[in-house]
Amino acid sequence: MPTQSTPTEMHPQRWGDPAAATVLPDSALGLVELAFGLQDRPPVAGATPPPSALDEALLDDLRAVVGAEHVLTDDVTRTLRTRGKSTPDLLRARAGDLDDAPDAVVRPDGHDDVEAVLAWAVEHRVAVVPFGGGTSVTGGLAARRDGFAGLVSLDLVRMKRLLAVDEVSMTATLEPGLRGPEAEALLAEHGLTLGHYPQSFRHASIGGFAATRSSGQSSAGYGRFDAMVVGLTAATPTGTLRLGSAPANAAGPDLRQLLLGSEGAFGVITSVTVRVRRAPAVTSYEGWRWPSFDAGSDAMRTLAQAGLMPTVLRLSDESETAINLADPSSIGGAEDPGCLMVIGHEGTGEQVATRRAAVAVVLQGLGGTALGTDPGEKWADGRFDGPYLRDALLDHGVLVETLETATFWSNRQRLYADVKAALTASLGEGSLVLCHVSHVYETGCSLYFTVAARQGDDPIAQWQAAKAVASDAIIAAGATITHHHAIGTDHKPWFAREIGDVGVRVLRAVKAELDPAGILNPGVLIP
Ligand SMILES: Cc1cc2nc3c(=O)[nH]c(=O)nc-3n(C[C@H](O)[C@H](O)[C@H](O)COP(=O)(O)OP(=O)(O)OC[C@H]3O[C@@H](n4cnc5c(N)ncnc54)[C@H](O)[C@@H]3O)c2cc1C
Repeated sequence: MPTQSTPTEMHPQRWGDPAAATVLPDSALGLVELAFGLQDRPPVAGATPPPSALDEALLDDLRAVVGAEHVLTDDVTRTLRTRGKSTPDLLRARAGDLDDAPDAVVRPDGHDDVEAVLAWAVEHRVAVVPFGGGTSVTGGLAARRDGFAGLVSLDLVRMKRLLAVDEVSMTATLEPGLRGPEAEALLAEHGLTLGHYPQSFRHASIGGFAATRSSGQSSAGYGRFDAMVVGLTAATPTGTLRLGSAPANAAGPDLRQLLLGSEGAFGVITSVTVRVRRAPAVTSYEGWRWPSFDAGSDAMRTLAQAGLMPTVLRLSDESETAINLADPSSIGGAEDPGCLMVIGHEGTGEQVATRRAAVAVVLQGLGGTALGTDPGEKWADGRFDGPYLRDALLDHGVLVETLETATFWSNRQRLYADVKAALTASLGEGSLVLCHVSHVYETGCSLYFTVAARQGDDPIAQWQAAKAVASDAIIAAGATITHHHAIGTDHKPWFAREIGDVGVRVLRAVKAELDPAGILNPGVLIP
């Protein structure tokens, strides 16, 4: 199980805990120089956001709602609530571009406060951006402000309570501002766990998980976040939605699904009731080697379709395996590193032993080679550290970014080949395109790509061009534009193609009903 720690405020120009910022070790510097050349691209220091556009009289009304100390307009707070943590977000922050900074940060302390802030925003025509952990990678926090008197960040950081635990039904009701580790720590007091561990776990929030339909690294065992949600409450500008009166029902379309993935465009999720599990007594992570990405993927499919899902199940392609392993020869020789699969089992000692043995029989039968626990434990130890490396590479002029998609098993090979080819063609010779299968279902899987390339003069445009051709390839292959990163602003053109005109009209109609003034996250999600 991941270490529990209280999340700190993230660095405004980097990922994560400022104290954990890392530099490239000398050995890696040599490799980076060889592959991309070394450039010196340090972040610009001392930038400040534009002055707040909201006048004092208007802010006084807001102070009357939540208390003066919970309406912040200082530069530091506004800077910390600017955009999310995609590579373009980081590149803009590193260049000192704070144009998207909110005019004020407001911190409500409960559902009623949120409703009152929304009423204030409607009355004064102020745009509202719900802010959970600020880890969006799709522009979900970069709302439009044209046509509005200003824009406030609705920071849910004070809403951090465990509201209820039902150990008979195995559910818990959580407030949205709880970060991953905080939610797990509260549940651990009851011997329970949510089991939701995205790579952004240490900084992302419960409300954000619900609003983006997040999926964690242990999704094979615990399920994706939207599958854990059995109920939720949301404040909208036209009233409150309280949903989820039974574990399942046939009471019309499931309106919970309308709020899950709504990215703050329909309402503010003020609590979620989630299915919880007993905290595992035993965890076990191990590595398996496959001669090819196809062979490993087929093995994953076999496990999923046989009902033999471990808790963690992921598979790196040949390139990612070779890059990720300090010593590729340890799994088959530098010439032929094969593909690394990481498998994790969690549960009681008996459950882990039984499941582990059953999975091993199937994998051996399919040609997999057991590598023991070392590669699995190495992955588990570093499972949240990768994003710090992105900053260290950006410091040296290497463009690093990720994208993800999903499809059915029968289309996996085509999707993989087409997206890889599109990224490689756009980023040019010398770029690296790595991939892993990150989430597995009976019927299909998600593919998660990481790219690295030498930064050109305009790295944001460089990435946007690559992302556009990859997104075109995804839609042309009939796959989804996002398996778990959500739509935000970045994915909207491809989202519209994915759901078609009727789908777009349905979303617009819901938006018009719940948020007729359009104050909630303008420009986010709805094409
Ligand atoms: C390094 C890194 C690794 C990541 N790894 C993963 C991963 O493994 N799996 C995964 O699924 N995602 C991952 N992400 C993406 C991101 O962490 C998820 O989308 C996460 O769910 C966002 O949560 P958050 O609390 O940070 O939300 P924010 O970034 O604060 O908000 C995201 C969107 O939801 C809206 N929102 C936030 N809270 C609420 C609320 N209470 N009500 C209504 N709307 C709200 C915001 O306005 C915004 O549009 C990663 C991101 C980074 C930077």
